[in-house]
Amino acid sequence: MERLTHWKKEANKDFLGSWSLTIGADENDKPIYREVVATIVDIKREAIPDMEGIKKGIANAKKDELLIYFAELDKPMVIHAKTNFKGLETACGTPFIERWIGKQVLVYVEKDVKAFGTKTDALRIKAVPKRLCDVCGKIIDEKIFQGSIQKYGKAVCSKECLEKAGIN
Ligand SMILES: [Zn+2]
Repeated sequence: MERLTHWKKEANKDFLGSWSLTIGADENDKPIYREVVATIVDIKREAIPDMEGIKKGIANAKKDELLIYFAELDKPMVIHAKTNFKGLETACGTPFIERWIGKQVLVYVEKDVKAFGTKTDALRIKAVPKRLCDVCGKIIDEKIFQGSIQKYGKAVCSKECLEKAGIN
């Protein structure tokens, strides 16, 4: 796919957004996004530039936001929308922020979210979908799933299932 850079990526260099997951464009030049299984490594409250304040002419305006850092992504995500807090609670299986560290979640883009009188593509979080073995139907770990898909083009949980699938 053609390598394309969404302008928002240039305008928001310090934080994750829908633009971070762009992998190309469809026939109408709408972005196509990837999904990322991401591991939460840190969560902290930090003072970040406040664009609303800066627009109003307050130089160096800052606001406090909760930032989540993922092992697989190079920038933190600002967690502000209640939707994302709820997504985190569901994905991590607990409402307690301290317990979210080390958990794996699916970071993806919800298209055409209505906000401030306009539509925008928003970064969202949900539970990592359950991966099942194509042969026996058992739940398999995300890493094994990805490796198996890459290697065999199928999700298989074990040597036994590999043989049953006719792959050696
Ligand atoms: Zn299996």
